[in-house]
Amino acid sequence: MKADEIFQEYNDHILLTYTRLPAIFVKGKGSVLTDIRGKKYLDFFPGWGVSNLGHCHPKVMGAVREQIGKLIHIPNNLYNPHQAKLAKELVRIAFEGKIFFCNSGAEAIETAIKFARAYGEPAPPKAGGKKFEIITTINSFHGRTMGALTATGQEKHQKGFDPLVPGFKYVPFNDLNALKAAVNDQTAAIILELIQGEGGINVATKEYVKAIRQICDEKKILLVLDEVQTGMARTGEIFGFKHYGITPDVMCLAKALGGGLPIGAMIVKKELADVFKPGMHGSTFAGSPLVCKAALGVIKAIYADKIMKNVKAQGPYLMEKLNGLKSKYDIIKEVRGLGLMIGVELTIDGTAIFKECFSKGLIINCTQGNVLRIMPALNLTRRQINKAVHILDGAIEAILKKDSSPLMGEARRG
Ligand code: PLP
Repeated sequence: MKADEIFQEYNDHILLTYTRLPAIFVKGKGSVLTDIRGKKYLDFFPGWGVSNLGHCHPKVMGAVREQIGKLIHIPNNLYNPHQAKLAKELVRIAFEGKIFFCNSGAEAIETAIKFARAYGEPAPPKAGGKKFEIITTINSFHGRTMGALTATGQEKHQKGFDPLVPGFKYVPFNDLNALKAAVNDQTAAIILELIQGEGGINVATKEYVKAIRQICDEKKILLVLDEVQTGMARTGEIFGFKHYGITPDVMCLAKALGGGLPIGAMIVKKELADVFKPGMHGSTFAGSPLVCKAALGVIKAIYADKIMKNVKAQGPYLMEKLNGLKSKYDIIKEVRGLGLMIGVELTIDGTAIFKECFSKGLIINCTQGNVLRIMPALNLTRRQINKAVHILDGAIEAILKKDSSPLMGEARRG
């Protein structure tokens, strides 16, 4: 098919739920994507946080190739060796516990919501009734299915889908007093992203997370960490919670776990393992030999390639370069993040800059209207960082030049 035909087919036959950028991609290697016309792009947002190892990492490809001719799928009433191996590996690198495999981030969150409801039933002796309430934070993002959407503390995503799932409360992020006020005898779980991703790269403070852990311990509330975006070495530790000196009761994973293949997981502490009983939950595609083999390849590559070491080296370097742009342009309000999960908050809408970057061959993301979200492959090089920041610099310059309004003219310092 030619490019124009492909655009036409999308137009005619695919629902318009996404705003797409006008390029068709056919090849990816590491941090570089190639489009149908042969133009190369530096991908600093590979797969929306899926391709943490870059595109087509050889260890992941090797694992998939090895499995694909043998067995792709079998249902979960049968055993497969790769699911067993992956569960063992995940528990080893996360915490002592048990796992439910699924296919996506939203499904992992749905699973955790059901798990919290099952945990809250029966009611503890002193509570007035069943524990069922779930507290999440404003500006969180947990997915698009009804439970995950309800957990997502953003009206803009929920609008038009009423009635939502009952029993959810929302509190401002990093506000301990608000959280304390929301907790009661009916609280079954608190669901938290340690760094709100789609919400604008907002990093939870250590004091906040430690205090939440303490509240959860005292009141027998489940602390559910949504590590769908922060997991798999993104922040410089294998999971975000390792920065905070706490362990969650429940952790949700997806995105980078399968290196591009769809796999999600909910891990629960060992002592909670009997909350789910046979028949209470399930998922047809989940934990197939193929996706588990891919995830095993991902974990192997993260450790063999010393990925966390690279994140710890390149993250601060990228931040430093972006802070260099901050001193050059008044429109950059703040550069924040952890490891290679970085947000550049602007005083203006970021759409034009993000589009300009794209046309100049750099893929980043823009979230919440004014936060450029930069989450490159974790094995990127300093040279690639220099190139990306150079393109971003040129894009900001071009956009500010295009806008002739006096206010925008003043926004450039250097
Ligand atoms: N949780 C977080 C923190 C996410 O960032 C996302 C997706 O962006 C999800 C959950 C939902 O994941 P999925 O799109 O795989 O359903």
